Amino acid sequence: MSQVARLSQMLFVTLREDPAEAEIPSHKLLVRAGYIRRVGSGLYVYLPLMWRVLQKVSQIVREEMNAKRAQECLLTQLQPSELWKESGRWDTYTKAEGIMFALTDRQDRELGLGPTHEEVIAAIARDTIRSYRQLPLNLYQIQTKFRDEIRPRFGLMRGREFIMKDAYSFHADEDSLKQTYADMYDAYCNILSRCGLKFRAVDADSGAIGGAGSQEFMVLADAGEDEVLYTEDGQYAANVEKAVSLPAEAKPSPFQTFEKRETPGTTTIASMCEYLGCDPTNSVKNVLYRAVYDTGTTVLVSVSIRGDRDVNEVKLQNELVRLGGQFGSAILVLDVPDESIQQQWAAQPLPLGYMDPALPDDYIRKLDGLEPKFFRLADRTVADLKNFVTGSNEVDYHVVGANWGEQFQLPELVDIQTAVAGDRSVRDPSQTLQTARGIEIGHIFQLGTKYSEAMGASFTNEQGKTVPLVMGCYGVGVSRLAQAAVEQSFDDKGIIWPVAIAPYHCVVVVPNIKDDSQMAAAEAIASELAELGIETLLDDRNERAGVKFKDAELIGIPFRITTGRSLKDGKMELNERATGETREVAVEGAARAVAERVQSALASK
Ligand code: ATP
Ligand code: MG
Repeated sequence: MSQVARLSQMLFVTLREDPAEAEIPSHKLLVRAGYIRRVGSGLYVYLPLMWRVLQKVSQIVREEMNAKRAQECLLTQLQPSELWKESGRWDTYTKAEGIMFALTDRQDRELGLGPTHEEVIAAIARDTIRSYRQLPLNLYQIQTKFRDEIRPRFGLMRGREFIMKDAYSFHADEDSLKQTYADMYDAYCNILSRCGLKFRAVDADSGAIGGAGSQEFMVLADAGEDEVLYTEDGQYAANVEKAVSLPAEAKPSPFQTFEKRETPGTTTIASMCEYLGCDPTNSVKNVLYRAVYDTGTTVLVSVSIRGDRDVNEVKLQNELVRLGGQFGSAILVLDVPDESIQQQWAAQPLPLGYMDPALPDDYIRKLDGLEPKFFRLADRTVADLKNFVTGSNEVDYHVVGANWGEQFQLPELVDIQTAVAGDRSVRDPSQTLQTARGIEIGHIFQLGTKYSEAMGASFTNEQGKTVPLVMGCYGVGVSRLAQAAVEQSFDDKGIIWPVAIAPYHCVVVVPNIKDDSQMAAAEAIASELAELGIETLLDDRNERAGVKFKDAELIGIPFRITTGRSLKDGKMELNERATGETREVAVEGAARAVAERVQSALASK
């Protein structure tokens, strides 16, 4: 039996006005309805109503993880820097990305505030897992994470302190990892369905965490910070950071012979095409990047890509790590250097806007820590171009009618273009990619042996050999999920919580607390509801009825019972927040009617 919560005795403050700090509906509503309060940039207090929602989400997560035989534990939030140095991520996380809060204790020891826990768990596995007989294992925790986000925003969506469920699995081989990965996929689908969310699983970039396959669970909403590209037939969906596509075919080139043409003031593809009367797909655009590796080496990267396409910097960074192993194992900075940075290394003024795919290496000054040669890459979109236009390395001039293997050598080919809506799908070119906005709620990774190798977490396999543990990791943004639910479900009156994660199932509104019969009926129905296991809030505040109705709608409790005028006919009013449907029900049986509706909502996934 649950207890009846009395609003008159709770910390409960709603705001009439939208808070100035909030941009998106869910953030505005959670602040206005008294769920959260900001205390600093990216720092939010979860007030009692919010805490109930978060505990419900956590409980659903817990049940679904336990159902897959994962075990709950709690790791430390303070993490010794040594562990992160062993994995090689200390510099990336504290300096390059700078997302980890780092501090020094009074004994001069460096520590980080946990943004994620691969290192800690790998250290524990190293100490405790000896034999294949202990495998597979899947450990998880639900805990506050810290990340010094560069742009904290949208309330709980991107906080600097937030709640995450993170799980880490350990395996004897890849097959076992794939099995648990599939289980986690399943668990995540169940979690999101039970929380009442519309979502899509998409292929994702594995980022600085590393590893092979990964998928993200996106809650679809216009305010989402991520772009998802997908095909209508449901066969393909990916984060734009990862998405592959077949761009439109190039138009036939209007040029037949190679020559240099004067093209004054045409630093953009559009102006150049207009001047020369050609299409952007006839041109090769060359972009210069600066990559600073974790070893301190700076490499200048010349990227050639078809004129109508844009470079995907996430893909580029991955290729630079994959192909640039001689320079380092991680990239701390990747950018298109501005003029002041160029002056530090350019031996002569660069023909900006007019570079060709083979800018000579003598543009690079001899400097310590600066690779003396350009690292040249080309996106696949340029491979088949014939008689193309490109820069000439001379300001105000382009060359036309150029061909690979004649005027220019084709650089190493990679896929580094940004896929866009309207491109054809690689899997099935008859399908075109569509776009949608998504909020990333969960991310599952097949890590492989990256961390176990770096940290010496190994075990003895069935053949008696010592080999590194195979790992997976799986995260859910618990606090982000709760807000995403609001972003998917609200109206002009307020929040509409899915029943499974609403702070209370039912609110009993007493229009006039001075009316003894109203109060008595409200008390009675509230206890009856509580006895039936319905989490009930009794609005017994000394407020006008209108205020109470407005507040009940704003905070989004799924069912409302009002003990008003119709009491004299033995009736109460029952209102459903989601549909707005209001009807009179007999006092007798009213609680059971609510209980049935709550239970059926909880049962349906
Ligand atoms: P994002 O791309 O949004 O920055 P991420 O890829 O860094 O997230 P993970 O490291 O995969 O996130 O963390 C697992 C989950 O934690 C994410 O899927 C997301 O739901 C949640 N999460 C990550 N960062 C934040 C944050 N700053 N505030 C709230 N939730 C977050
Ligand atoms: Mg992610």
